[in-house]
Amino acid sequence: MRCCENAIFGIPLHRNQLFIHDQQPLLMEEEAIETKSAVSSNNLPKSDVTKIIDNQRAFFNAGETRGVRFRIRQLKKLREALETHEPKLLEALKADLHKPELEAWSTEIGVMIAEIDYNLSHIRSWVRPRRVPTSLFFMPGKSRIYSEPFGVALIIGPWNFPVKNVFGPALAAMTAGNCCVLKPSEHAPHTAQAIADMVEEFFDPEYLIVVQGGIPETTELLKHKFDYLFFTGGTEIGRIIYQAAAKHLTPVTMELGGKSPCIVDDNSNIELTAKRIAWGKLLNSGQVCIAPDYVLVRKSVKKELIENLRKAISGFYGDDPKATDDYARIINDTHFERVKNLIEGDVVIGGDTDAKERYIAPTVIDNVKITDKVMQEEIFGPVLPLIEYEDIDEAIAIINNGEKPLALYLFAKSYDTRDKVLAETSSGGVCINETIMNFGSIELPFGGVGNSGFGAYNGKIGFDTFSHKKGVMTKSFFFDVKQKYPPYTKGNLNFIKFAVRKLI
Ligand code: NAD
Repeated sequence: MRCCENAIFGIPLHRNQLFIHDQQPLLMEEEAIETKSAVSSNNLPKSDVTKIIDNQRAFFNAGETRGVRFRIRQLKKLREALETHEPKLLEALKADLHKPELEAWSTEIGVMIAEIDYNLSHIRSWVRPRRVPTSLFFMPGKSRIYSEPFGVALIIGPWNFPVKNVFGPALAAMTAGNCCVLKPSEHAPHTAQAIADMVEEFFDPEYLIVVQGGIPETTELLKHKFDYLFFTGGTEIGRIIYQAAAKHLTPVTMELGGKSPCIVDDNSNIELTAKRIAWGKLLNSGQVCIAPDYVLVRKSVKKELIENLRKAISGFYGDDPKATDDYARIINDTHFERVKNLIEGDVVIGGDTDAKERYIAPTVIDNVKITDKVMQEEIFGPVLPLIEYEDIDEAIAIINNGEKPLALYLFAKSYDTRDKVLAETSSGGVCINETIMNFGSIELPFGGVGNSGFGAYNGKIGFDTFSHKKGVMTKSFFFDVKQKYPPYTKGNLNFIKFAVRKLI
């Protein structure tokens, strides 16, 4: 497959042109990024989008992506691309988010490589039409379910995991045989550029292309008809995207956010509980859609939890988290101000901020009430409110009074408590006695419910998301049910009543 010089057809290549946003690079020189395959704001003419989609659709219609060998080649190429560009991607993630290398590699690149390998070892069985039983009424005949790619998919990514949240859905779409237009977040500009460079070097634009830009470019893209739309981002923007997709009846997956609760019900291992909560909350400085947003803690164990959170945080980062390379920064000034303003009340750990570095210390707020400001929005930062309860029903009621969360975490020894919480709450996923880890399992679906989204991906579930399930029945001419044809008689009706009840 050839490599293109210009990543986007007909769109002028604006070197040294940056996007409009409030991002200040943290580590790199504030030099203009070479935007080879980028377009600047308001610089994505309709005709260019039409051309991108037309070319991808023509390539899709030519049928190459339907072949399993083509898909396997592309998946291997994606792995090679990620491995080749690993240093540049890590550097870009450092510049955008001060992402520590271990976090960046494991949560953005390592998980991708693991999932590519998983998909490669299963793809042949996934693409095979699946035979299902054919009931007596339809005999002689055969029934199969074909997994058919949709066509051209648009994947819109957020800034917090800018690599994983673009290539995770892209991998699922590619495994299922689709072409993709990728729109990374403009708020992680170094990573968006690194992604564009990587895709440009390794893939044909008729198959995989990156369109860079912000709201104007995304709005332009959304005016066009795609065959599938996969959006990861905030709930409010999700509504805009969903409405745009509805105009074209484009099927969508919505990976959204919200407030993910964490219940601490007993003190079976409070030291490890605190460590796991602190890790899940402070990864990427709390800018994780599945981070424990707030803690509902049984009154009797709260004091012990706070002491152990303090111990865990100083164990991770020492006395000054700002001085360590292992702690990320807030993505931009807007989010810094937003998160900083949520810090008020009974701050028992942290609370320090530094606007110049967009640094917010790991912060724990005690005695939070459900009406407090910090409980009115997804925190998406390293601030952890604690709300105490005495009876598990109170904790469940608090969760059920809010929108359905993306993740729910429960630390509880009692099987009755686990069963009760599982039965009486609804969330995208649940992890018992740990945080975050469940979403890394390729066998488990990653997706929300209600306001935290709908649809899911990861491994086979991702393949299914990007495949239309086409039911195919093949009948024989050997036998024909004559009673189904007019003219209808009483005898025909009786036969059909019997057949529908007994033979289907
Ligand atoms: P965002 O919704 O602001 O932006 C996401 C994407 O939408 C970006 O590519 C952006 O360019 C585009 N966009 C923004 N405004 C738009 C508009 N008006 N019209 C068209 N396109 C627009 O999200 P974000 O700030 O990048 O990410 C943070 C949110 O994403 C959080 O709420 C987080 O919980 C959620 N998130 C969810 C998941 C998940 O898997 N469920 C993963 C990561 C982040």
